[in-house]
Amino acid sequence: MSDLYLKLVNTSLGKTAAQSLGLPSPTPLKRWTRTDQPFTAGNILIGCASGGKAITELGSTLSASAAMLHHASNTARLTDSARAGTKAIPLDLTTELRLKFSALVFDASGIKDTLQLRALYDFFHPTIRQLASDGRVLVIGLDPAICKTPAQAAAQRSLEGFVRSVGKEVGKKGATANLIWMAPTASGQLDSTVRFFLSPRSAYVSGQFVRITKSAKGTNAVSPAAPLRDKVALVTGASRGIGESITDTLARDGATVIALDIPAAMEQLEIVASRIKGIALPCDITTTEAPQIISDFVQEHFGGLDIIVHNAGITRDKTLGNMPEHFWDMAIAVNLTAEELINEELTNRELLRENGRIVCVSSISGIAGNFGQTNYATSKCGVIGYVEALAKQLKDGRTINAVAPGFIETQMTAAMPFTIREAGRRMNSLSQGGLPIDVAETIAWYCNPTSAGVNGNTVRVCGQSLVGR
Ligand code: NAD
Repeated sequence: MSDLYLKLVNTSLGKTAAQSLGLPSPTPLKRWTRTDQPFTAGNILIGCASGGKAITELGSTLSASAAMLHHASNTARLTDSARAGTKAIPLDLTTELRLKFSALVFDASGIKDTLQLRALYDFFHPTIRQLASDGRVLVIGLDPAICKTPAQAAAQRSLEGFVRSVGKEVGKKGATANLIWMAPTASGQLDSTVRFFLSPRSAYVSGQFVRITKSAKGTNAVSPAAPLRDKVALVTGASRGIGESITDTLARDGATVIALDIPAAMEQLEIVASRIKGIALPCDITTTEAPQIISDFVQEHFGGLDIIVHNAGITRDKTLGNMPEHFWDMAIAVNLTAEELINEELTNRELLRENGRIVCVSSISGIAGNFGQTNYATSKCGVIGYVEALAKQLKDGRTINAVAPGFIETQMTAAMPFTIREAGRRMNSLSQGGLPIDVAETIAWYCNPTSAGVNGNTVRVCGQSLVGR
């Protein structure tokens, strides 16, 4: 469903009316359009607090982009920025800045105590107004859970509050702010995540943090045009909405996709599968035989699987006192239990290959809770717990992560009453709904063979919704 308000407010008359009435003026987001598009371009400013551990890797990732790289050179707290790469041009932030930046990237991993947080102010205060429309703020810190001292943990944890606030300040121009928390030895695993957060692929992801761990396995280099070449993926709920977009996106990135949906959706599923030269698999994932049917199919046709995306989901809304028991049972069965049983069967039969990827689809309802959705929120919060626990058990480069979509323009949200739909669309930093492609691009980043250090995360694709933490 199209967002008429977003279109109207971006006409000259609409802009003036919105300003005089104090209404939100969302900026249409730029999304990824061509596979040969560089992940970022324009001017990028990079800064580094003293002792930064990510700056060298950042420099090499950014040097491979189409951007003009500048580094902050003015204060002692920012001197390490020079290590950002030989191509970086020094920029004194104490002078008047005229350049517009497509991204401001700051390595805060060297910050050891709260006094050193001043480096954030020194870098961002003179530059934040120079962030372009659709710009990106990216901060890299150390995972507070594994910091050596309380002072360091406090300083690193505070980056979350900083980034979330910056996201709220820059959202009106369609810009985003995100945080990477890396393990001390994981700087070599940053590349795919930095590329994702700086590119138009993350247009609707803001105010998020992601943890990067060191992975023993993983691939160092993949073709940017077809990172999933030779990979076999299975997507559940693939006939429409978000699942259809995930299927298209993984196929675009080179994967052969098995598109699964209920038998009643077979006609539409066949259309999706033939468009991407994939295979349709009609199957109700809640049946007792489903895990075996899926595993047999994978074994027979491909001998194994590289990617499974558990996207199929249902809502059966009613307040708890009015909820019939089959509403409760169905939501838990489709949204949570089916995923566990399918993964268990694939794992027991050793069908998920080395460096394999499991992706689950949660929801911000699972994080914040929602009126009339005790069943749905229980199942979607359970997904997050499952991902966190299984991530610790997976071996040989296999990972599991979740996405938690906010308001995404699909048939599901088109069916909402007008006022609830409008509130869902506007109550986020970007003042608009996301598109299925925004969820699909986030999943494609998880599935990239170079994302082996991204494990156990739940990233919200919600435009930094005001709902939830
Ligand atoms: P949708 O209703 O358009 O698509 C869901 C698909 O899952 C359908 O094709 C359906 O046939 C399939 N499915 C349902 N039960 C199944 C079963 N038992 N076996 C196999 N397939 C089954 O929904 P959507 O909006 O595209 O949502 C996709 C996922 O994203 C869901 O998990 C949903 O909970 C989640 N989500 C969506 C939003 C949103 O705003 N649209 C927000 C948060 C989370």
